[in-house]
Amino acid sequence: MTAITLIEDAATLNSQLASLDLAGRLSLVAGLGGRAVFTTSLGIEDQVITAEIGNHRLPIEVATLQTGRLFPETLALIGETESQYDINIVRYEPEQADIDAYAEKYGLNGFYESVEARHACCGVRKLKPLARALSGATIWITGLRRGQSANRADTPFAEFDPERNLIKINPLADWDIDAIRAYVADNSVPVNPLHARGYPSIGCEPCTRAIKPGEPERAGRWWWENDEKRECGLHVHEEGATAAAQ
Ligand code: SF4
Repeated sequence: MTAITLIEDAATLNSQLASLDLAGRLSLVAGLGGRAVFTTSLGIEDQVITAEIGNHRLPIEVATLQTGRLFPETLALIGETESQYDINIVRYEPEQADIDAYAEKYGLNGFYESVEARHACCGVRKLKPLARALSGATIWITGLRRGQSANRADTPFAEFDPERNLIKINPLADWDIDAIRAYVADNSVPVNPLHARGYPSIGCEPCTRAIKPGEPERAGRWWWENDEKRECGLHVHEEGATAAAQ
C-alpha cells in the first residue's frame, strides 16, 4: 500500500473511530485485514486494551518489549495476564550482541550519563525489538492517551506512521485516567502493583521512579533529564503526517 493511501486511510479511520466506544474501535480495526499488532508495556492503559482483545477474542497480536531491565512486578504481570485472558503475549528481546556492544561503549548503566547514551540504550533494548515486532504489520495499536503528558496532548485515534509505513491506532486517546481506573475496577483487570505505589507510568526499572503528588504522570520516566518532552523514541510524531498530531 502506498504512503498516500495510508495517509488517506488514517484520516478516514481517525474520523470513524471518534464516534465509537472502545469495543467498537478495536472491532473496526481488527476487521480491516492485514496484520494488527498491539504492543503492551503492561501499564494500566494497555491492560484495558488487552482485556478487550482477550475477552472478545479479537484477531490482534499482543506483543511486549522484554527489555531485560523490567521490574519483577511487570514480568509477573505478563504471565498473570496471559492466564486470565488465555492469550499469548509475544516477548521481543534485544540481541545479546547489541547489549554487549552498548555496555562496551557506554557501560551497562551508561544511560544516566547523557541523552545520547540513553537513546542508544532505548534503541538497542526497545526500538530494534519493536521493529521486529512490527515487521509486516499494517496496523500498530498502542495505549497512548492525551492526558499522559503535554507531549501527547494531541494524540489522534489514527495516524500514518511514515517511519514504519503502517497505520498507528490509539483507541484510548480520549480516555482520562479516571475512566481507565473505573474500567479496571469494573472488569477485574489485573494491573501492576507499582501503580498503587506512586508509579502511574512504568518502564524499565533503572529509568522509572515514583512521582510526587501533583507531578505529571510521566515525570518519573528518565527523571534526571531536563527535556519535558522526553520519550524513548517509540512514539515520535511526524509533523503533518496525518489528520491530527500526536
Ligand atoms: S528505559 Fe532505560 S534501561 Fe530501558 S531501554 Fe531505555 S535507557 Fe535502557
